[in-house]
Amino acid sequence: MIKNSLTYLLLVTVVLISSCSKDSILVQTTDPVGNPVIVPPVAPPTSATDSTLVMGNPSNATTNVADFGNYLLKENYYSVSYNRDRGIPNWVSWHVSATDLGAVNRQDDFRGNPNLPSDWYKVENTSYSGSGFDRGHMCPSSDRTSSIAANSSTFLMTNIIPQAPQNNQITWAGLENYCRSLVQSGSELYIIAGSYGEGGTTTSGGLSTIIDNGRITVPSTLWKVIVVLPNGSNDLNRVTTNTRVISIVIPNNDNVNSDWKTYRTSVDFIEQETGYDILSKVSVGTQSVIESRIDNL
Ligand code: MN
Ligand code: MN
Repeated sequence: MIKNSLTYLLLVTVVLISSCSKDSILVQTTDPVGNPVIVPPVAPPTSATDSTLVMGNPSNATTNVADFGNYLLKENYYSVSYNRDRGIPNWVSWHVSATDLGAVNRQDDFRGNPNLPSDWYKVENTSYSGSGFDRGHMCPSSDRTSSIAANSSTFLMTNIIPQAPQNNQITWAGLENYCRSLVQSGSELYIIAGSYGEGGTTTSGGLSTIIDNGRITVPSTLWKVIVVLPNGSNDLNRVTTNTRVISIVIPNNDNVNSDWKTYRTSVDFIEQETGYDILSKVSVGTQSVIESRIDNL
Protein backbone atom coordinates (compact mmCIF):
# COMPACT_ATOMS: atom_id res chain seq x y z
CA MET A 1 0.00 0.00 0.00
CA ILE A 2 2.75 2.44 1.02
CA LYS A 3 4.78 1.36 -1.96
CA ASN A 4 1.78 1.95 -4.28
CA SER A 5 1.18 5.41 -2.81
CA LEU A 6 4.82 6.28 -3.29
CA THR A 7 4.70 5.08 -6.87
CA TYR A 8 1.57 7.13 -7.43
CA LEU A 9 3.17 10.20 -5.87
CA LEU A 10 6.23 9.72 -8.03
CA LEU A 11 4.11 9.41 -11.15
CA VAL A 12 2.11 12.55 -10.33
CA THR A 13 5.34 14.41 -9.67
CA VAL A 14 6.83 13.31 -12.97
CA VAL A 15 3.69 14.29 -14.85
CA LEU A 16 3.57 17.67 -13.09
CA ILE A 17 7.22 18.40 -13.76
CA SER A 18 6.97 17.43 -17.40
CA SER A 19 3.85 19.50 -17.97
CA CYS A 20 5.44 22.46 -16.21
CA SER A 21 8.59 22.25 -18.25
CA LYS A 22 6.49 21.88 -21.37
CA ASP A 23 4.69 25.12 -20.52
CA SER A 24 7.93 26.91 -20.01
CA ILE A 25 9.31 25.68 -23.33
CA LEU A 26 6.31 26.51 -25.49
CA VAL A 27 4.75 29.93 -25.57
CA GLN A 28 1.53 30.76 -27.36
CA THR A 29 1.66 33.91 -29.43
CA THR A 30 0.53 35.19 -32.80
CA ASP A 31 2.42 35.66 -36.04
CA PRO A 32 2.52 38.98 -37.91
CA VAL A 33 -0.81 38.23 -39.63
CA GLY A 34 -2.51 37.21 -36.41
CA ASN A 35 -2.43 33.42 -36.69
CA PRO A 36 -1.45 31.61 -33.51
CA VAL A 37 2.01 30.10 -33.56
CA ILE A 38 4.11 28.33 -30.96
CA VAL A 39 7.55 29.77 -30.37
CA PRO A 40 10.28 29.01 -27.86
CA PRO A 41 10.31 31.23 -24.76
CA VAL A 42 12.54 34.22 -24.76
CA ALA A 43 14.39 35.85 -21.95
CA PRO A 44 15.74 38.91 -23.68
CA PRO A 45 18.20 40.99 -21.73
CA THR A 46 16.37 43.97 -20.27
CA SER A 47 18.40 46.31 -22.40
CA ALA A 48 17.15 44.68 -25.59
CA THR A 49 13.48 44.59 -24.73
CA ASP A 50 11.53 47.01 -26.89
CA SER A 51 14.58 49.14 -27.28
CA THR A 52 15.50 48.22 -30.83
CA LEU A 53 13.50 51.07 -32.40
CA VAL A 54 14.19 53.73 -29.77
CA MET A 55 15.91 55.95 -32.34
CA GLY A 56 13.13 55.45 -34.90
CA ASN A 57 11.83 53.22 -37.69
CA PRO A 58 13.81 54.55 -40.68
CA SER A 59 11.40 53.43 -43.43
CA ASN A 60 8.19 53.26 -41.38
CA ALA A 61 8.13 49.49 -41.83
CA THR A 62 4.82 47.88 -40.87
CA THR A 63 3.51 44.43 -39.95
CA ASN A 64 0.95 44.60 -42.78
CA VAL A 65 1.60 41.71 -45.22
CA ALA A 66 0.72 44.03 -48.10
CA ASP A 67 3.85 45.97 -47.14
CA PHE A 68 6.03 43.20 -48.60
CA GLY A 69 8.86 45.52 -49.55
CA ASN A 70 9.11 47.05 -46.08
CA TYR A 71 7.79 44.43 -43.69
CA LEU A 72 8.47 44.87 -39.98
CA LEU A 73 9.76 41.83 -38.11
CA LYS A 74 10.11 42.54 -34.41
CA GLU A 75 12.45 39.82 -33.29
CA ASN A 76 13.16 39.74 -29.60
CA TYR A 77 16.73 40.90 -29.97
CA TYR A 78 16.50 43.31 -32.93
CA SER A 79 14.00 44.70 -35.43
CA VAL A 80 14.03 44.19 -39.19
CA SER A 81 12.54 45.84 -42.25
CA TYR A 82 12.37 42.83 -44.57
CA ASN A 83 12.05 42.98 -48.34
CA ARG A 84 10.25 39.90 -49.64
CA ASP A 85 11.20 40.34 -53.27
CA ARG A 86 14.88 41.05 -52.55
CA GLY A 87 14.99 38.16 -50.05
CA ILE A 88 17.05 40.30 -47.67
CA PRO A 89 16.47 42.89 -44.94
CA ASN A 90 16.38 46.55 -45.94
CA TRP A 91 17.75 47.35 -42.51
CA VAL A 92 18.13 45.86 -39.04
CA SER A 93 18.11 47.92 -35.85
CA TRP A 94 19.39 46.91 -32.43
CA HIS A 95 20.86 48.06 -29.13
CA VAL A 96 24.08 46.80 -27.55
CA SER A 97 25.13 47.23 -23.96
CA ALA A 98 27.37 45.28 -21.62
CA THR A 99 24.52 42.93 -20.64
CA ASP A 100 24.31 41.71 -24.25
CA LEU A 101 27.90 40.52 -24.24
CA GLY A 102 28.25 37.17 -22.50
CA ALA A 103 29.95 33.83 -22.92
CA VAL A 104 27.56 31.98 -25.23
CA ASN A 105 29.18 30.31 -28.23
CA ARG A 106 28.28 31.08 -31.80
CA GLN A 107 25.27 28.85 -32.53
CA ASP A 108 25.72 28.83 -36.33
CA ASP A 109 22.11 27.70 -36.82
CA PHE A 110 21.37 29.64 -40.01
CA ARG A 111 17.72 29.00 -40.90
CA GLY A 112 14.60 30.36 -42.55
CA ASN A 113 12.48 32.66 -40.43
CA PRO A 114 9.30 30.83 -39.35
CA ASN A 115 7.59 34.15 -38.61
CA LEU A 116 7.43 35.26 -42.23
CA PRO A 117 3.96 35.06 -43.81
CA SER A 118 3.52 31.41 -44.81
CA ASP A 119 3.14 32.04 -48.55
CA TRP A 120 6.37 34.06 -48.84
CA TYR A 121 9.56 32.49 -50.17
CA LYS A 122 11.80 31.66 -47.23
CA VAL A 123 15.52 32.08 -47.69
CA GLU A 124 17.10 29.05 -46.02
CA ASN A 125 20.40 27.88 -44.58
CA THR A 126 21.73 26.71 -47.96
CA SER A 127 20.25 29.43 -50.20
CA TYR A 128 23.66 31.14 -50.61
CA SER A 129 25.58 27.91 -51.30
CA GLY A 130 27.98 28.17 -54.20
CA SER A 131 27.28 31.87 -54.70
CA GLY A 132 30.69 33.05 -53.51
CA PHE A 133 29.02 35.34 -50.98
CA ASP A 134 29.12 34.99 -47.22
CA ARG A 135 25.96 34.86 -45.15
CA GLY A 136 26.69 38.28 -43.70
CA HIS A 137 25.01 39.24 -40.46
CA MET A 138 23.41 42.62 -39.98
CA CYS A 139 23.00 42.25 -36.17
CA PRO A 140 26.24 40.34 -35.47
CA SER A 141 26.35 37.02 -33.67
CA SER A 142 28.96 38.46 -31.31
CA ASP A 143 26.64 41.29 -30.23
CA ARG A 144 24.22 38.67 -28.88
CA THR A 145 26.08 36.34 -26.56
CA SER A 146 24.05 36.72 -23.35
CA SER A 147 21.95 33.61 -24.01
CA ILE A 148 21.56 30.82 -26.55
CA ALA A 149 18.21 32.28 -27.66
CA ALA A 150 19.76 35.70 -28.21
CA ASN A 151 22.66 34.32 -30.24
CA SER A 152 20.50 31.93 -32.21
CA SER A 153 18.15 34.73 -33.22
CA THR A 154 20.93 36.38 -35.22
CA PHE A 155 21.12 33.31 -37.50
CA LEU A 156 17.62 33.80 -38.91
CA MET A 157 18.18 34.40 -42.63
CA THR A 158 16.06 37.58 -42.36
CA ASN A 159 19.08 39.10 -40.55
CA ILE A 160 21.48 38.09 -43.33
CA ILE A 161 22.62 39.51 -46.67
CA PRO A 162 24.94 38.10 -49.38
CA GLN A 163 28.16 39.88 -48.49
CA ALA A 164 31.53 39.75 -50.26
CA PRO A 165 33.84 37.72 -47.99
CA GLN A 166 36.59 40.34 -47.72
CA ASN A 167 34.03 42.98 -46.85
CA ASN A 168 32.35 40.76 -44.26
CA GLN A 169 35.36 39.15 -42.65
CA ILE A 170 37.78 42.08 -42.61
CA THR A 171 36.31 45.56 -42.97
CA TRP A 172 32.76 45.09 -41.70
CA ALA A 173 34.02 42.79 -38.94
CA GLY A 174 36.58 45.43 -37.99
CA LEU A 175 33.80 47.94 -37.32
CA GLU A 176 31.78 45.33 -35.42
CA ASN A 177 34.78 44.64 -33.18
CA TYR A 178 35.39 48.34 -32.68
CA CYS A 179 31.76 48.78 -31.60
CA ARG A 180 32.07 46.04 -28.99
CA SER A 181 35.26 47.65 -27.69
CA LEU A 182 33.21 50.82 -27.10
CA VAL A 183 30.66 48.78 -25.15
CA GLN A 184 33.43 47.15 -23.12
CA SER A 185 34.72 50.59 -22.19
CA GLY A 186 31.45 52.01 -20.84
CA SER A 187 29.22 52.92 -23.78
CA GLU A 188 25.90 51.63 -25.00
CA LEU A 189 25.11 51.72 -28.70
CA TYR A 190 22.12 51.99 -30.99
CA ILE A 191 22.99 50.49 -34.36
CA ILE A 192 21.09 50.44 -37.64
CA ALA A 193 22.61 48.53 -40.55
CA GLY A 194 21.29 47.98 -44.04
CA SER A 195 22.00 47.68 -47.71
CA TYR A 196 20.77 48.99 -51.05
CA GLY A 197 21.40 48.76 -54.77
CA GLU A 198 22.11 45.71 -56.90
CA GLY A 199 25.35 43.95 -57.68
CA GLY A 200 28.20 42.73 -55.53
CA THR A 201 31.58 41.42 -56.64
CA THR A 202 33.59 38.54 -55.23
CA THR A 203 37.09 37.47 -56.19
CA SER A 204 35.82 33.94 -56.81
CA GLY A 205 32.65 34.69 -58.80
CA GLY A 206 32.89 38.20 -60.24
CA LEU A 207 29.81 40.41 -60.39
CA SER A 208 26.43 39.02 -59.30
CA THR A 209 23.18 40.90 -59.06
CA ILE A 210 21.05 37.92 -58.01
CA ILE A 211 21.57 34.46 -56.48
CA ASP A 212 19.34 31.51 -55.52
CA ASN A 213 17.65 31.41 -58.94
CA GLY A 214 16.84 35.09 -58.74
CA ARG A 215 15.11 34.93 -55.41
CA ILE A 216 17.80 36.90 -53.59
CA THR A 217 19.18 40.27 -54.69
CA VAL A 218 22.85 40.93 -54.02
CA PRO A 219 23.07 44.52 -52.75
CA SER A 220 25.75 46.82 -54.16
CA THR A 221 26.24 48.83 -50.99
CA LEU A 222 26.12 48.34 -47.23
CA TRP A 223 25.65 51.05 -44.62
CA LYS A 224 25.69 51.32 -40.86
CA VAL A 225 24.89 54.06 -38.35
CA ILE A 226 26.01 53.82 -34.72
CA VAL A 227 24.86 56.15 -31.94
CA VAL A 228 27.32 56.09 -29.04
CA LEU A 229 26.05 57.00 -25.58
CA PRO A 230 27.71 56.68 -22.18
CA ASN A 231 25.87 54.03 -20.14
CA GLY A 232 22.70 55.42 -18.62
CA SER A 233 18.93 55.53 -18.91
CA ASN A 234 16.39 57.58 -20.91
CA ASP A 235 18.62 57.06 -23.91
CA LEU A 236 16.64 58.98 -26.51
CA ASN A 237 16.60 62.07 -24.29
CA ARG A 238 20.36 61.88 -23.87
CA VAL A 239 21.09 62.29 -27.58
CA THR A 240 22.40 65.82 -28.05
CA THR A 241 24.31 67.74 -30.69
CA ASN A 242 27.48 66.45 -29.00
CA THR A 243 26.56 62.77 -29.37
CA ARG A 244 29.02 60.72 -31.35
CA VAL A 245 27.48 59.09 -34.41
CA ILE A 246 29.58 56.82 -36.63
CA SER A 247 28.26 56.15 -40.14
CA ILE A 248 29.77 54.17 -42.96
CA VAL A 249 28.85 53.33 -46.55
CA ILE A 250 30.86 50.52 -48.09
CA PRO A 251 30.69 48.75 -51.47
CA ASN A 252 29.80 45.05 -51.44
CA ASN A 253 32.97 43.76 -53.01
CA ASP A 254 36.21 42.01 -52.23
CA ASN A 255 38.51 44.94 -53.11
CA VAL A 256 37.49 46.99 -50.12
CA ASN A 257 40.08 48.67 -47.94
CA SER A 258 40.58 46.70 -44.74
CA ASP A 259 40.14 49.85 -42.62
CA TRP A 260 36.47 50.67 -42.00
CA LYS A 261 37.43 54.23 -41.09
CA THR A 262 38.08 55.00 -44.75
CA TYR A 263 34.34 54.51 -45.42
CA ARG A 264 33.00 57.04 -42.94
CA THR A 265 30.28 59.36 -44.16
CA SER A 266 27.31 61.32 -42.80
CA VAL A 267 23.87 60.03 -41.88
CA ASP A 268 22.57 62.67 -44.31
CA PHE A 269 24.37 60.91 -47.17
CA ILE A 270 22.81 57.54 -46.26
CA GLU A 271 19.39 59.19 -46.00
CA GLN A 272 19.88 60.68 -49.47
CA GLU A 273 20.83 57.30 -50.93
CA THR A 274 18.05 55.31 -49.26
CA GLY A 275 15.22 57.81 -48.82
CA TYR A 276 14.99 56.80 -45.14
CA ASP A 277 14.78 59.05 -42.11
CA ILE A 278 17.35 57.59 -39.75
CA LEU A 279 17.25 58.63 -36.05
CA SER A 280 13.79 60.07 -36.71
CA LYS A 281 12.83 60.03 -33.01
CA VAL A 282 15.64 62.47 -32.24
CA SER A 283 14.56 66.13 -32.38
CA VAL A 284 14.88 67.65 -35.84
CA GLY A 285 17.33 70.27 -34.60
CA THR A 286 19.64 67.67 -33.07
CA GLN A 287 19.34 65.43 -36.13
CA SER A 288 20.45 68.24 -38.40
CA VAL A 289 23.68 68.61 -36.44
CA ILE A 290 24.61 64.97 -35.77
CA GLU A 291 23.48 63.73 -39.19
CA SER A 292 25.64 66.16 -41.16
CA ARG A 293 28.81 65.49 -39.15
CA ILE A 294 31.33 62.86 -40.25
CA ASP A 295 33.01 61.01 -37.40
CA ASN A 296 36.78 61.52 -37.24
CA LEU A 297 37.87 60.04 -33.91
MN1 MN B 1 29.71 39.34 -40.57
MN1 MN C 1 17.22 61.50 -39.76
